[in-house]
Amino acid sequence: MTINWFPGHMNKARREIAQAMAQTDVVIEVRDARLPSASANPMLEELRGERPCVRVLNKADLADPAVTEAWMAVLAGDRSVRCIALTATHASEVRRIPKVCRALAPSRGGPGKPVRALVVGIPNVGKSTVINSLKGRRVAEVADRPAVTRRRQRVDLDIGFSLSDTPGVLWPKLEDQAAAYRLAATGGIGAAAFDTFDVAHFTLAFLAQRYPEALRSRYKLTSLDREPTELLEDVARARGLLIRRGELDLERAADVLLREVRSGKLGRISFERPEDVAPETEPSTERKDAEPGGA
Ligand code: GDP
Repeated sequence: MTINWFPGHMNKARREIAQAMAQTDVVIEVRDARLPSASANPMLEELRGERPCVRVLNKADLADPAVTEAWMAVLAGDRSVRCIALTATHASEVRRIPKVCRALAPSRGGPGKPVRALVVGIPNVGKSTVINSLKGRRVAEVADRPAVTRRRQRVDLDIGFSLSDTPGVLWPKLEDQAAAYRLAATGGIGAAAFDTFDVAHFTLAFLAQRYPEALRSRYKLTSLDREPTELLEDVARARGLLIRRGELDLERAADVLLREVRSGKLGRISFERPEDVAPETEPSTERKDAEPGGA
């Protein structure tokens, strides 16, 4: 099946973001560390222009650390782009962001000249969580579902730093079906846009190939050399998910699988490695300037 994802208002979002860029010193681009390419917005590079950018690979707690390291090296671009990985629900980690922003905008930050940062990213990557963690309280709505409607807001932090939320909704890569499946597997696309079975089958095939031990140990599977449909039956059996005697409840098995993968119950899983993604879809990487340890 084809995943269709039409968030609408694309032109409006483009216009609003272009306007917001005019008052922006540094762009904080939030992506999902589990799928840094599929969770990028294809239009952002163009809208950002020459502005410095901090690429935040968020939800690092759920991603495979070695793969995240590899992504950081790839995604740090020239001098004006830094890449950091963090877990936005941990306020101490989020506090690295203003430090990096200041370094990227040395002419700002003085009295009356706060560093003006714009937080951008597709729905559900954790933008509100970043803002709330920086502010130290809840100012932006956090939701565990994509594309919660939001109004643009500016948050003045008392450290010579102001943050704006993404105006409008930015969409993920639409044309790339493989990316859409990865997004669906991680919960980055709303459930209404895809068939749960298709995504569960995709996820099982992916895990059997990349993270076989995680799959084996979580669901006590003996053989992974099976079709994804059979693997889903094995998951249902392992969990005793039955509609009635002898009949497996595959729908619940698919739900359980996806919920557990998304919440990290199978361990830290990355759905993309840099080499999985065609290089031309990534921005140029003149200088590898990652900051793995801390900003
Ligand atoms: P937004 O749509 O980009 O503003 O995303 P939200 O901030 O609303 O976050 C979407 C979901 O991801 C919420 O359930 C958050 O609690 C969760 N979330 C955000 N950051 C992290 C993180 O670093 N780790 C984990 N495990 N969950 C996170």
